[in-house]
Amino acid sequence: MSQIKSLNISKIREDFPILKRKVNGKPLIYLDSAASSQKPFQVIKTIDDFYSTYNANIHRAIHTLGEEATAAYEAARKKVAKFINAKLSQEIIFTRGTTESINLVASAWGRHNVKEGDLIVLTEMEHHSNIVPWQILAKEKKARIEYIRFDENGVLIKEDIRKLIDKNPKIVAVSHVSNVFGTINPIKEIVNFAHRNGTLVLVDGAQSVPHMPVDVQDLDADFYVFSGHKMLGPTGIGVLYGKKELLEKMEPYQSGGEMISEVHLQESKYKDIPYKFEAGTPNISGPIGLAAAVDYLESLGMKNVREHEKELVRYALEKLSKVEGLKIYGPKDPEIRGGVITFNFYNNGSLIHPHDVSQVLDSEGIAIRSGHHCAMPLHEKLNLPATCRASFYVYNTKEEIDQFVSALEKIRRFFS
Ligand code: PMP
Repeated sequence: MSQIKSLNISKIREDFPILKRKVNGKPLIYLDSAASSQKPFQVIKTIDDFYSTYNANIHRAIHTLGEEATAAYEAARKKVAKFINAKLSQEIIFTRGTTESINLVASAWGRHNVKEGDLIVLTEMEHHSNIVPWQILAKEKKARIEYIRFDENGVLIKEDIRKLIDKNPKIVAVSHVSNVFGTINPIKEIVNFAHRNGTLVLVDGAQSVPHMPVDVQDLDADFYVFSGHKMLGPTGIGVLYGKKELLEKMEPYQSGGEMISEVHLQESKYKDIPYKFEAGTPNISGPIGLAAAVDYLESLGMKNVREHEKELVRYALEKLSKVEGLKIYGPKDPEIRGGVITFNFYNNGSLIHPHDVSQVLDSEGIAIRSGHHCAMPLHEKLNLPATCRASFYVYNTKEEIDQFVSALEKIRRFFS
């Protein structure tokens, strides 16, 4: 068992060139990692090295550069597999991101397995990318979608989980960590329950894999998806993990070069997984950069990353609870929430628009996100047009939270 160690944040911050930047004359305080994280120079340099020294297409060329690029691409697949403890590296499909991974499953699995009248179960706190692909599938197949509700603390309602899974859905698609409430959902429980009647589970890990240890075999999820850009890696690269026996049975998602073993005028044979799902020239620098991000996170230790964020969240919740007029959404207990704090600011009971809050914070060099965070159904249920969201990562400090809180105090004084 690895021990939990405090991260050396000032040393970590040295690795992120962007953190030296000033915004509006103030040192940047980046509290928007849930949207996209910053990148350490180790990742930037790895991508630079690829393009500067061994850039070539992969899986085809019999020359040194092609072989080096192929080796690095395939080594990245192994590294990612190990990072989430997949049994086999063929179970790792590289995609453009979480969104494409979910679309792949909804299309390549869904179109052949979901039939008229079938049920798909989602939750009310899902990101649009875990709602819209299922809506399109349901419309095409005349299937139904039902939603597990959340309670006043942004926690999924247990009875709903049981009640809806008892209806024998074809699939349950659920986020591991909500990008709005920060809630860590009880994935193991959901999977155990779903598997009792043969229901598959897709887990959206966009907000979990970057922030905590994830073991897909232990969770026993059938599909698990995430994005590289939220975990210190580049944009345009993501992962679909799927159990081998499921991926093998699925039809291709996209087709063309690279995913075939034979093509004849009237028919073709496909390659085995994972290549069956990686048509065309892939994003080659993406997995290579993602592997460098995984190395970086592993050097910190994912348990330590989680502890650091928990500590920041605990600290921020305590400080923010003292700011007059501030309403915080999501669970109160940092044990069941990730590094995301969503809130709204009220002045004499009326909402200060989140865009105004984030604009004023920006003038102080503080980057947060405002809007519906691609979770409109969640906001509709709360009857809110938008919220503000601050999110933390390995480079954030308590001092930054102090400055964030005092900037909020300034806003409160300004608006009142
Ligand atoms: N799901 C969740 C929970 C997310 O937070 C995000 C990113 N905001 C996504 C899915 C979509 O990720 P991407 O845009 O990288 O495909």
